[in-house]
Amino acid sequence: MNVLEERILKDGMVKEGNVLKVDSFLNHQMDIKLFEEMGKEFKKRFAGKNINKILTIESSGIGIACVVAQQFDVPVVFAKKSRSINLEGEMYVAEVESFTHKCKNNVIVSKKFLTPEDHVLIIDDFLANGCALQGLIQIVQSAGATVEGIGIAIEKGFQTGGRMIRNLGYQLESLAIVDRMDASTGEIVFRQNESLASC
Ligand code: 5GP
Repeated sequence: MNVLEERILKDGMVKEGNVLKVDSFLNHQMDIKLFEEMGKEFKKRFAGKNINKILTIESSGIGIACVVAQQFDVPVVFAKKSRSINLEGEMYVAEVESFTHKCKNNVIVSKKFLTPEDHVLIIDDFLANGCALQGLIQIVQSAGATVEGIGIAIEKGFQTGGRMIRNLGYQLESLAIVDRMDASTGEIVFRQNESLASC
């Protein structure tokens, strides 16, 4: 068991609707020491990759992306969520359906910050059905840039996103993969995983 998994068992809460709440350490209050360990692990897993930019999506991915960017010594770009339909010209746009809010947003990235020369590591907090990642991949492709890899803090392995993204051929690294969780008992079961330091 790794430090992220330990922390999920200690402080995570399983909610109805396949939602894992981790807001006390990951996506509302943030434990930066834990993030630092996660950043180092992503650096290890994507060692040898030619990465010059981190791309994430607002808002929960930003904190993790920043510590990963520090490890790679590269900038972070985050896709902004916007309901405006008047987005043309200088923006890359993709439509993303939110798993937690059940609504569709356009996500946008300025053309200034993503170019064909960029080699991108995509980072996010959760992977569920893969809509957020598909949107981010689409934006990288629109820019003519290259996806070097995808790093996720928590993958819910019982949902479809992980398989879909791996089938597309991307190197997808998730630090904790939840194979099963039960809102009525609070039980959380992880896939066997060698990542991060053991407790
Ligand atoms: P997907 O697009 O893969 O269906 O969902 C990924 C996005 O939804 C993530 O960016 C994350 O913000 C949110 N998300 C998905 N599942 C969960 C969950 O169980 N808990 C929390 N806190 N966020 C989730």
